[in-house]
Amino acid sequence: MAITVVGSVAFDSIETPAGRRERCLGGAATYFSLAASFFTDVRVIAVVGEDFGAAEQAVFDKRGIDTRGIERAQGKSFFWEGSYLENLNEAKTHNTELNVFGAFQPKIPDAYRDSEFLFLANIDPVLQRRVREAMPQVKLVAGDTMNYWIKDHRPALLEVLRGLDILLINDTETKMLAGNNNLVKAARAVLDLGPRMLVVKHGEYGATAFYGHSKDTISAKTFRAPALPLEEVVDPTGAGDSFAGGFFGYLASQKELTPGAFRRAMFYGSVMGSFAVERFGTERTQGLTREEIDQRFEQFRELTHLD
Ligand code: AMP
Repeated sequence: MAITVVGSVAFDSIETPAGRRERCLGGAATYFSLAASFFTDVRVIAVVGEDFGAAEQAVFDKRGIDTRGIERAQGKSFFWEGSYLENLNEAKTHNTELNVFGAFQPKIPDAYRDSEFLFLANIDPVLQRRVREAMPQVKLVAGDTMNYWIKDHRPALLEVLRGLDILLINDTETKMLAGNNNLVKAARAVLDLGPRMLVVKHGEYGATAFYGHSKDTISAKTFRAPALPLEEVVDPTGAGDSFAGGFFGYLASQKELTPGAFRRAMFYGSVMGSFAVERFGTERTQGLTREEIDQRFEQFRELTHLD
């Protein structure tokens, strides 16, 4: 089953304890679609500028990702600059230049309209809602957001949450959205805002899924997948979006969305996140094979296996 994703395709300048890279290909939709492309067909909706050339296009083409929905506009692509010098779990943003992204009006190619899965990556909630409403036939909708939209665009974000099946955000964002510092209470409050499942990403500590009706403590369920302990984290950029790509991509590849499929999806999300951080930018994910992914999945099984 095909996934349509809408979000940023960008150039990132990144500094980590392992070094610095200037203007490497990034963006939430890029990380998401590369990770998901190992599991299913992926179609991207985004906008890029004249600086997006053949080398960048080739990264998508090599993974068979449909880019007919990537509009080319006059000007420069979205640019983000960040560092992780004090804390590998949290990016410090130094510069965000929206460029062509500032006037982005998502256009959905007709060929995308039969997509069964939709991922709304971190963008203006007004645009997320517009894309959601333009694709009423989708079977499962998941989305992401960030502190900026939670703080300053809450009414628009709340409208998006009402139309989401799954929300994937990090722990700080969960607590901020709920206005509660206890993760479990915050997760319950977020489930009351609309999503049927909340996946909270904890960076190097894994991710937790909360689902079931939030007021019914008996049917409310929690499932945690660890992250793989790694000796060296080169660049955490895109780990969250790669997690989302592995998670949603795996779900889209399943015939039936059973509780077990969601649990395995949490592990495939962790697998894709663990690869993303091993090199700068999309380098590691670009060169992966499905075999390496399945081997790492087995490593996760070993990590958590009881008997
Ligand atoms: P993450 O998975 O959270 O590390 O996402 C990192 C990616 O998000 C980078 O490649 C950035 O280009 C992109 N990004 C950073 N800020 C924004 C923003 N305000 N809107 C959309 N994408 C962003």
